[in-house]
Amino acid sequence: MSDTDSTSQSDTLRTPIVAVLGHVDHGKTSLLDKVRGSAVSEGEAGAITQHIGATAVPLETVSQMAGSLVKPEDFDLPGLLFIDTPGHHSFSTLRSRGGALADIAILVVDVNDGFQPQTEEAIDILKRTGTPFIVAANKVDTTPGWNPQQGEPIQKSLEKQSKRAKAKLDESLYELIGQLSDKGFSSDFYWRVQNFQKNIGVVPVSAMTGEGIPDLLGVLMGLSQRYMKDEMAIDVAGPGYGTVLEVKEERGFGATLDVVLYDGTIHAGDTIVVGGANKPIVTEVRALLQPRPNAEIRTEKRFDKVDEVRAAAGVKIAAPDLEDAMAGAPVRVVGDRDVDEVIHEVEAELADIEVTTEEEGVVVKADTLGSLEAMANALQEAEVPILRAEVGDIAPRDVAVASTAREPEHKVILGFNVDVLSNAEDELDKTDVKLFEDDVIYQLIDEYEEFVDEMKRAQQ
Ligand code: GDP
Repeated sequence: MSDTDSTSQSDTLRTPIVAVLGHVDHGKTSLLDKVRGSAVSEGEAGAITQHIGATAVPLETVSQMAGSLVKPEDFDLPGLLFIDTPGHHSFSTLRSRGGALADIAILVVDVNDGFQPQTEEAIDILKRTGTPFIVAANKVDTTPGWNPQQGEPIQKSLEKQSKRAKAKLDESLYELIGQLSDKGFSSDFYWRVQNFQKNIGVVPVSAMTGEGIPDLLGVLMGLSQRYMKDEMAIDVAGPGYGTVLEVKEERGFGATLDVVLYDGTIHAGDTIVVGGANKPIVTEVRALLQPRPNAEIRTEKRFDKVDEVRAAAGVKIAAPDLEDAMAGAPVRVVGDRDVDEVIHEVEAELADIEVTTEEEGVVVKADTLGSLEAMANALQEAEVPILRAEVGDIAPRDVAVASTAREPEHKVILGFNVDVLSNAEDELDKTDVKLFEDDVIYQLIDEYEEFVDEMKRAQQ
């Protein structure tokens, strides 16, 4: 923590930041939509607040949705902040203090499909970062013979199913519990879990019918209140700390940052330090932007300007010189500190992201710092050396660097979830550099290893 003057302290509890991850098509987007949609249909104005990149659901709404599972008087955390972009790419962007990611995660698993490659990857990231999570065992409504029961806890709903449906679902759920156990996590149906730090709670849900969503919210809220309250205590009046979710070109504003602020306050006009591709960027906040409610996509005014934003929140920052900012990089308000001290802090945090490069090896490009780190770890395990690793789309310069590798098997660019700039494609055509792209880390590495094997076979 910063050593700000204690007279300026105003400790308060912030909203826990929740990220949703899991395999493609397992229902991450539907689940988020259902949470937002059911919150709004609870009626009251202020049921949710739409931020840049996130949705805030206040405690009152959570408790309206969760019924008897969340009694407002038992809680002093202000609610839950859901990161809107699901998937572990955006999740692994969320590096905050101490390398922790979001405060808590929902791992969505399709009950019919069980663990899949991206489930495995998500679990590995959760494990490595020690992020607490719960499992949403989704699509229970697709169980043959399922009889939807709205408006009560999922445990009751399960009791009302036919023997056959219940047996079928139980089989899938126990299989899931077994798969979690293979990964080193002990888990159980959430209503049987006594200590959520020791056991992962499994919540059967349907993002389609909404069954189990109240339970999911109840478990998230309860878990946060019980185990994470200390971490939620922040100095709201202190300088803002955040993480870049995305760097986006915005008409009229140039390069802007979508940021999740997890501590303190940021004001328009503040001097900030942001992690950049080459060196920390020092700039001044020109505008803080929030999405305009009901803004038409094509209208000019898509954003409202605000004077200040307090954690936890999502906000768009417009400022000069943000072109080189990286998704996953820290954002720090300088406040009354020495700017060099803050630059140092940002450098130290970036140095924490360990990517070992060598004199000879492949070129790696990834969409965020978190995914770059995950790629580097996976390549290290596969004993593939790295010549250069960077965040960003594939540019001509990357092709030039890759072509300097000595070994043919290293004249390679591995692109994780990035685009190839058109002038880089021209360069690729002119050289013998091979490009591999995927959005599943281990598939990308598999493809590369297959290529190396083939090349070696051809040489024999
Ligand atoms: P994502 O790729 O993980 O974000 O998955 P989506 O939310 O896009 O869902 C993939 C597909 O599964 C869509 O066709 C959804 O309508 C469907 N789906 C998601 N959740 C459920 C559910 O609980 N029940 C049923 N029957 N279908 C679902």
